[in-house]
Amino acid sequence: MTDLHRLSIRELSEGLKQAQFSSRELTEHYLKRIAKIDAKVKSYVTVTAEQALAEADAADAALKAGHAHALAGIPLAHKDIFCTQGIKTSAGSKMLDNFISPYDATVVAKAKAAGLVTLGKVNMDEFAMGSTSESSYFGATGNPWALDHVPGGSSGGSAAAVAADLAPIATGTDTGGSIRQPASFCGLTGLKPTYGRVSRFGMIAYASSLDQGGPMARSAEDCAYLMNVIAGHDAKDSTSVDKEVDDYVANLNGTAVKGLRIGIPKQYFNVAGLDADVKARVEESLKKLEEMGATLVEIDLNMTEAYVPTYYLIAPAEASSNLSRYDGVRYGYRCENPKDILDLYKRSRSEGFGAEVQRRILIGTYALSAGYYDAYYVKAQKVRRLIQQDFLKAFENVNVIAAPSAPTTAYKIGANLSPTEMYLGDIYTLAVNLAGLPAINAPVGFDKDSLPVGLQLIGNYWSESQLLSIVHQYQQNTDWHTKRATIAEENA
Ligand code: GLN
Repeated sequence: MTDLHRLSIRELSEGLKQAQFSSRELTEHYLKRIAKIDAKVKSYVTVTAEQALAEADAADAALKAGHAHALAGIPLAHKDIFCTQGIKTSAGSKMLDNFISPYDATVVAKAKAAGLVTLGKVNMDEFAMGSTSESSYFGATGNPWALDHVPGGSSGGSAAAVAADLAPIATGTDTGGSIRQPASFCGLTGLKPTYGRVSRFGMIAYASSLDQGGPMARSAEDCAYLMNVIAGHDAKDSTSVDKEVDDYVANLNGTAVKGLRIGIPKQYFNVAGLDADVKARVEESLKKLEEMGATLVEIDLNMTEAYVPTYYLIAPAEASSNLSRYDGVRYGYRCENPKDILDLYKRSRSEGFGAEVQRRILIGTYALSAGYYDAYYVKAQKVRRLIQQDFLKAFENVNVIAAPSAPTTAYKIGANLSPTEMYLGDIYTLAVNLAGLPAINAPVGFDKDSLPVGLQLIGNYWSESQLLSIVHQYQQNTDWHTKRATIAEENA
C-alpha cells in the first residue's frame, strides 16, 4: 500500500487489527516520507527511526497476540517540549540542545503504554514563546500549504508534520493559542483541553497556570482518539484534575449541532486587524452550522481589549520564574570558561536564550519586582478573573462561543513583525487560557492565496467531548478537513 499516510486514525487502527498492514510497514512508510520531504518542511528536530521501528515491532507482537490498545502501532510526533527519556528534548532552544531527559513526560508515557510509535520530536518556538515557530534555535519550519509561509506557533512543527503527512497525529501544547493557531494556519483540527485535563508532568514549563497539552490532527475524530490516550488525572501533576475522563471517540455523535446555541461575540468581529477573507470564511462556517440546526446568538465579551495586555504580563511573569532554573549549573547550556559564578549565570543565560525569551524574562521580572508587583502582576490577575467571569456569564445563555482562531492566515517567513504586532495576532486565543477553558480549531476554507482559515469554538469547562462532537458533525457535512496541503499533494 502506498497511500497509508492518507488513512484516518480509525482506518489505521482497523487496518492494523485486520493485519492489512503491519505497524513496521506503516512506520517505515512514514520514515521514508520524512526522509524524502522533511528537508523542505523542516518539521522534525529529531527523528527517532531506530526506536520507532522497535516500538512498531512490539506493537505488531501485541496486535498478533490480540491484546493491543486501539491505537497500538500508530505513529505520532511529539512536540519537542515533552520530555522523552533518552531522546533530546530541546524546547526549541540552544539552552536545551544538549538535554537528554532521564524520564518521560506523562503524555509520552501514556502514548507509549497505548502502543503508539514515536516518529520523533518536532519543532517549536523557543520555550513555546511565539506564534510562527521562527524563534526556534533550529530555524524556521515551512507551512505545507506554502513553504515560504510560517506554520504558526508555537506548535508549528506538530502542525506542519501532520499537514505534510509526515505523521498522522501529533501532540502540541497551548499556553495562549499554540495548538489552535498553528492548526488554523495549517488547515488542521486541534484541541486545547480544559486546564487540568491533560497532565503537565514532564512538559517543559512556560507559564504553568496557562500551559496545557492536547492533540493536533486532521479531524476531530482523530483528535478524539488521541485524547482518549492522553487525558486524565496524574498524581505527578498537582494541577491535573481528578475527574472522570469521557470516552471521546464513543461520544462523537450526530446530534451535537441540533439545538446548539452558539454565541457570537460582537467585539470579536470588530477587531481592527481581522482579515476580510478570514471573517468571511468563519461566517460561512457559522451559517453552515446554522443550517445544521444550531442557533446563532449575538453576545458581549466586554473584556476583549484586556486579553493581550493581561496575558503578556502573566505569561512572561510565570516564564521569568520558570526559566530561572536554566543557570548553566545542573543541566542545559553552559558558557565556556566562566570567570566566576556570576559570570557563569550571566553568560550561560545570555548565550543560551534567544531574543524573544530574553525579552519575556525581562518583562516578567519587571512585572514581579517589589515596586511593581501590585501595579502589574496583581492587577493582571484581577483582570484575569474578570475575563473568566465574562465567559461564565456568556455560558449562561449559550453552549459554545465562536471566534476566528487568528485574525489572519499564515504570515510569510521573515515577515519580521514587531513583538507587539505579533502579540496582537493572539487576540482570539489568549482568553481561553486565562480562563482555563477548552477550545478547538477546525479548518473552514481558504483565503485568496489558498491558505487555510480556522474557526475556533470555545466551550465551558470539561466540554471537550461536546467540542469534538460538534466539529465531527461539521466535518461529516463538509470536506475542508480532507483537503491536502500543497507539499502533501506533490508527494501523494
Ligand atoms: N503566541 C503566544 C505566545 O507567544 C502563545 C504561545 C503558546 O501558546 N505557547 O506566548
